[in-house]
Amino acid sequence: MKSAVKNELKWPEWPQFEQSAITNLLQVFENKRWAISGYWTGQESMEQKFAQAFAEYNQVKYCVPTTGGSAALVIALEACGVGHGDEVIVPALTWLATATSVLNVNALPVLVDVEPDTYCIDPIKIEAAITDKTKAIIPVHLYGCMANMDEIMRIAEKYNLYVIEDSAQSHGSVWNGKKAGAIGHIGCFSMQQGKVLTSGEGGAAITNDPVLFARMEQLRADSRMIVSGHNLHYGDMQLVAKGEVQGKNFCMSEFHAAILLGQLELLDSQNALREANARYLDKQLAKIPGLKIMKRYELVEKQTYYGYAVRFDRAYYNDIEAEVFCEKLRNELMMGNFSLHPPYPPIHKSKLFCPWTLKRFDPAIAKDESYWRSLELPVSQSAELECIIFHHAVLLSSRDHIDLIVSAFHKVAQEVESGRSAI
Ligand SMILES: *Cc1c(COP(=O)(O)O)cnc(C)c1O
Repeated sequence: MKSAVKNELKWPEWPQFEQSAITNLLQVFENKRWAISGYWTGQESMEQKFAQAFAEYNQVKYCVPTTGGSAALVIALEACGVGHGDEVIVPALTWLATATSVLNVNALPVLVDVEPDTYCIDPIKIEAAITDKTKAIIPVHLYGCMANMDEIMRIAEKYNLYVIEDSAQSHGSVWNGKKAGAIGHIGCFSMQQGKVLTSGEGGAAITNDPVLFARMEQLRADSRMIVSGHNLHYGDMQLVAKGEVQGKNFCMSEFHAAILLGQLELLDSQNALREANARYLDKQLAKIPGLKIMKRYELVEKQTYYGYAVRFDRAYYNDIEAEVFCEKLRNELMMGNFSLHPPYPPIHKSKLFCPWTLKRFDPAIAKDESYWRSLELPVSQSAELECIIFHHAVLLSSRDHIDLIVSAFHKVAQEVESGRSAI
């Protein structure tokens, strides 16, 4: 009987959407303008509408939409003047784009270890990594935690460094009254399929600084800038040549912006549901011996969950690795790899990180395989062995489904207990 119930177990899928995204998309077809580099057809572009809506959402002055989160990071770094010979401090535990974006502007990513209870960059270790070549810090708000932004901003001010928040996983989080991405000089977002706000691919950079904004506008549109709609006539180009800084084409299409305008309407309610379920899980899982819930800084007012992370004491669980723990839970909960997996490997151990394979990079930043692989950043390295991540869609389940997760953890913990008494 119990297995019959389990066979019916369904977990939410991702992405989700409603009619407004479709209505907006149809509007783009009708408008006959599919890109901001297309000519003016009488109404404001979806891209500009999204830029305005997303700036408002984050309570900042400016937003520059891009083709993706990696592109947003590249224009952010270039806007800050980061380039050849410079160093940028990044956490060792993150999606590799944080580090490869630095390489893509010809600068060296300097990897710094993370805090064990947030998996975000450890401010204490930032200061030791600063040299006279350091130009910027890129903190990442990873999975379901925010980085300690007060400490990071304090250090950046002391050493006169730019802070570019990688908020690719944190649309809507609030730290002490400010949105994630609105605390540093620039905030970068990804709208790739897995992210909590998505159009399949997409990104954006936000800022309050008009100079950084003007540079980012040009950096993403082949050195052109948008002029506002008032004096435009049918057939005019809305992008005008500026040429203050060498750009490339990282422009978001009208179709992507149309979808995002629809998706943005869903974000706050989805975030609230995810957060309520995550906090409930925190409470329930904290009661299970050997499990360690993640830390939430007191200044975090709202937390967006790109993933729900929970750590476990490996010694208590007979030294099992996270992948084995995940497999037990997947069987119990009838989940796929999509819903439940260990964290990323750290950058320097990741198979996907291989800059030495491209001739375009300066050998001084690409280094060689042995340089990267021999770096020792112990907290980042142990994450993939002792942590379990649930996809954020799981947090959109009903409470009785969330209770099944709690029961599954109890069951696996008991299995381990009895395994131990048998020894
Ligand atoms: C997804 C992600 C990126 C890259 O975004 P893309 O849109 O895939 O280019 C960068 N940083 C982090 C932390 C991410 O999760």
